[in-house]
Amino acid sequence: MRNVVDGLIGEVFALCRENRAGELADYIPELAAVDPDSFSLCIATSDGYVYESGDADTTFTIQSISKPLTYGLALADRGLTAVAEKIDVEPSGEPFNEISLDPVTERPRNPMINAGAIAAASLISGDDPAQRFERLRRCYSRYAGRELTLDDAVYRSEARTGHRNRAIGHMLRSFGIISGDPDAAVDMYFRQCAIGVTCRDLSLMAATLANNGVNPVTHQRALAPELVERVLSVMTTCGMYDAAGDWVTQVGLPAKSGVGGGVLAVLPGQIGIAVYSPRLDAHGNSVRGVQACRELSKRLELHSLNVTRPARWATRPIAAFGGAPSRPRRGPADRDSLEKVGRRARIYELHGDLLFAGTETAVREITDQSGELEAVVVDIRRVDDVSGIAGRMLADLHDDLDRQGCQLALVDPEGLLGHTTSELVPAAGGRVFVDLDAAIEWCEDTLLERHCAGDRLPESITLAEHPLLSALTAEQFDGFAHGLEIRTVNRGETIVRRGDRAAGIFLILAGRVSSTLQGSDGAVHRITTLAPGMTFGEMPMLVDDRFLNDVHADSDVRLAVLPPDRFARLTAEAPGLKVALLEGLAAGAYAQMEAAIRSLAPRGRLG
Ligand code: GLN
Repeated sequence: MRNVVDGLIGEVFALCRENRAGELADYIPELAAVDPDSFSLCIATSDGYVYESGDADTTFTIQSISKPLTYGLALADRGLTAVAEKIDVEPSGEPFNEISLDPVTERPRNPMINAGAIAAASLISGDDPAQRFERLRRCYSRYAGRELTLDDAVYRSEARTGHRNRAIGHMLRSFGIISGDPDAAVDMYFRQCAIGVTCRDLSLMAATLANNGVNPVTHQRALAPELVERVLSVMTTCGMYDAAGDWVTQVGLPAKSGVGGGVLAVLPGQIGIAVYSPRLDAHGNSVRGVQACRELSKRLELHSLNVTRPARWATRPIAAFGGAPSRPRRGPADRDSLEKVGRRARIYELHGDLLFAGTETAVREITDQSGELEAVVVDIRRVDDVSGIAGRMLADLHDDLDRQGCQLALVDPEGLLGHTTSELVPAAGGRVFVDLDAAIEWCEDTLLERHCAGDRLPESITLAEHPLLSALTAEQFDGFAHGLEIRTVNRGETIVRRGDRAAGIFLILAGRVSSTLQGSDGAVHRITTLAPGMTFGEMPMLVDDRFLNDVHADSDVRLAVLPPDRFARLTAEAPGLKVALLEGLAAGAYAQMEAAIRSLAPRGRLG
């Protein structure tokens, strides 16, 4: 089914179809035999989808679009240095068929003009001419993802008339650029130019370059990544001959044209574009091809030098929300301390793709602040991709912070930075967390250990100290404590499972428990961590439902459990006690909800 992209491409297609300017190439007689109005525009994505319009399956000869492909194969066969000794990479500003070498280096100026292309053809490895051409044909076929063949009529036509190219071949021989038979090199070049392609093929060839050398449909590699960069660079500066400057300014994509009427353009990492329309301008570039690429670049914002937005980030102090700490319940001393020193810890949330520039601004800001900071949370949950350099920068930042005594908590549940999200410390002074809450809590603990002189929240409390029971009278307390079961659970054990029946109110007296959910991907997601003074299990009991998540003991845990039947009986036996308990539960629930809402409040500009 057509989608909006077909519509966008269709508009460009319709616009350019009206343009009948330009002439067929006729210096190769066979090229003048094609339908001058034939027109196709294809865009292939780097996952192999092809948008087609017009005569997408009409075969024409690749001509000079072969040049970057042969150059790539020569680089693979001989290595960068050996090829660079024969062919420069400077734009020539000359027509493609100029009989010239650079006067200083005495080398062809670049592999996109005929002199450089014939030199590149002479560098293809193989035992004999037939084998060399077969290697080249197979290489082109890997780009296209299908077996390409030679158009014999076009080949013979150029072989009969290509005296200028023969002259170039002999010039190259006399300057020692070609060491073997110059006619064999020129013949190889004529053959490569006469390989038949469709516009669809060309778009996939372009997408293969966009996809770092791997055909997006067959997944076969056509060119090594380091050579892709080289080939695209040369296409950018020299691909459109003496119109290269105009092209880079207006279209901004590495590209190559051929006198057969094809144009191939690449937006690295994104898409491949191909146009076929055989009427040519004075430079030998397809008139509609140039126009269509210019329009597409403008309308689809494809200029490769277009300033894209790198990763964005937002920052806030850890205690920005009136000291709402990670856990609803911290002791008063903890709260006071966090109120005072919470600004010594900050949260940095990074978004988008982490490339050099976005990471640079975040790292600069964190480093600038690091004199005042003792703990930093870097939250990369909304980051899509981490470039190699960004990963290194964050690792180095980690080391820098560590030297300054500043802790780094990385929230990276998907392990984008390659750490496992265990409790393990990947390097001194840092930890990786699956969720923000746990990271904040760890940073808060760091601050509290350093600054809180008062009584920290005890790791265990007595039943009487549990806040749920704080509003009870002595008599109610005794009545309540009577029916409780005290339970100890070892670290790592599961206390309840999703789907279990309601099992009463669990009051935490010592240790930590986490409620978790298993995602559809099988990964375990922590919802919240609960500490002494908090409760769980009341929800399924009050709404008469089953547990919606698992509850695990993160440490050795001591619990007091009020069973459901006992809770039910209180209505008749001790209504005042039941009301007090329900009030306590409601207060706790509202406090948690308040903390949750605050944590969702707009970030970045606060504090
Ligand atoms: N075979 C053609 C030639 O050498 C290719 C030129 C081109 O496509 N620009 O003349």
